[in-house]
Amino acid sequence: MDTQKLADEVETRRTFAIISHPDAGKTTITEQLLLFGGVVREAGTVKARKTGNFAKSDWMEIEQKRGISVTSSVMQFDYAGKRINILDTPGHEDFSEDTYRTLMAVDSAVMVIDSAKGIEPQTKKLFQICKMRGIPIFTFMNKLDRDGRDPMDLIDQLEEVLGIEAYPMNWPIGMGKTLTGIYDRFNHRVEKYNHADDSTLVELDDDDNPINDSELAEDPQFKETRDSVELLEMAGNDFDQEKIAKGDQTPVFFGSALVNFGVKTFFDAYLKFAPAPGEHKTQEDTVVAPTAEQFSGFVFKIQANMNPNHRDRIAFVRICSGEFEKGMDVNLARTDKKIRLSNVTEFMANTRENVQTAVAGDIIGLYDTGNFQIGDTIFTGKPKINFEKLPQFTPELFVRVAAKNVMKQKSFHKGIQQLVQEGAVQLYTSYSTNDYILGAVGQLQFEVFQFRMQNEYNSEITMEPMGKKTARWIDPDQLDERMSSSRNLLVKDRNGDPLFLFENQFALRWFEDKYPDVKLTAKL
Ligand code: GDP
Repeated sequence: MDTQKLADEVETRRTFAIISHPDAGKTTITEQLLLFGGVVREAGTVKARKTGNFAKSDWMEIEQKRGISVTSSVMQFDYAGKRINILDTPGHEDFSEDTYRTLMAVDSAVMVIDSAKGIEPQTKKLFQICKMRGIPIFTFMNKLDRDGRDPMDLIDQLEEVLGIEAYPMNWPIGMGKTLTGIYDRFNHRVEKYNHADDSTLVELDDDDNPINDSELAEDPQFKETRDSVELLEMAGNDFDQEKIAKGDQTPVFFGSALVNFGVKTFFDAYLKFAPAPGEHKTQEDTVVAPTAEQFSGFVFKIQANMNPNHRDRIAFVRICSGEFEKGMDVNLARTDKKIRLSNVTEFMANTRENVQTAVAGDIIGLYDTGNFQIGDTIFTGKPKINFEKLPQFTPELFVRVAAKNVMKQKSFHKGIQQLVQEGAVQLYTSYSTNDYILGAVGQLQFEVFQFRMQNEYNSEITMEPMGKKTARWIDPDQLDERMSSSRNLLVKDRNGDPLFLFENQFALRWFEDKYPDVKLTAKL
């Protein structure tokens, strides 16, 4: 592909995640977007994945059992001349680590808020990750077909709770039973809500009066909304594309995903302002442009057994530059090994077709036989590229784990090694006894681990809860094994680096007082 063609291709890519608190409507809105893209034909298809009636891309068994989304996946489709990549993020709080990493692979985020509930804890957490990355965030205030909070309160909440400037792109006319439409500031028109039918568009004249719609012109709710919009014009924030690009201002859209009202309007505007893939920073503090000829990407997720019939592992790679070609040789930055990318998959929602071309912004899935780790960079040519490290989260919950059947150590070890490599749990071994200890951000991760050990590796395990601990790494040169006690257990991490698991903050402070010269760090 020549340089111009590559630049043109990259320009069409829009790669984003939808973030929300569970039940705000992420699945429903994703489904509408897939409908626009012609990926699914009927509403309810994605929904059914939750109830287990539809194996969209072979969702893991546990996901169906629990009715929650455990794993992120990728949905790619074409819409309005753009190639869309939606990276699904699990909403459950116990899976935040996986979610955080997925957010490292997107260029913008859509934040879905239940307009009756406002900002909920999980929304806030996910928002902060996006904010930290400085990516644009677009807000969809969902469930307008139900009575919700006052729109002005919702806007205030964005500014006060999240600390982001809000710019309402449209404003509801009524709400719940009285919903008659939205006043679309951006397109200067009214989109009328016709219940089961498609909405109708009514243009506004220079004085903000509906053209050829006297009924709407006389509607007191419309007049009220027009007053509110006037107030926004005078006292609200100015639309500021630069601020949006930096994540300092969020365009806000009202609508209802369930009745497909305002979703298309939102998506069309979103595609106008959402960024195409940008530059990525390396550990050497250089940047790689998406249109650079050198192919590069990083692994943000590893997942085993997406399809239980093919015992495969897939490393999800976000492409950052160049063009992917099937069968190409790449270098793995961590090991300096050469790897041929011959077995690759693409994540169209319901197929597994082999990728033809993929450029910056696209996600490819590499069948993995143990070569990859989360955070790995792959690249071609020179110079060597090694992208910035993905954030690591220090586990807080710990369990001691062992095989129930001592005769089955082999499958036990294999399972542990593979699942740990996926990054859902961290593995430690105790210094004195060589016991295996698992650390995770939340309890559910242990349950998933146990379930998968049993199901995928036929290894029944016991897990002895150790409760909450505070993990702190110690410089090996400063380590004296006698520093360890029942209140600060000495363990090794996967790399063999020593750390203490402190019983609580009090134990940590006590240690720091006793050994003032010893340097402890929270993360490696
Ligand atoms: P998720 O957990 O964020 O993926 O949320 P879902 O998309 O599964 O939606 C949670 C519930 O809210 C489901 O029962 C949906 O049918 C419902 N829901 C989603 N969007 C809307 C909406 O716009 N209006 C109403 N009334 N219900 C909605």
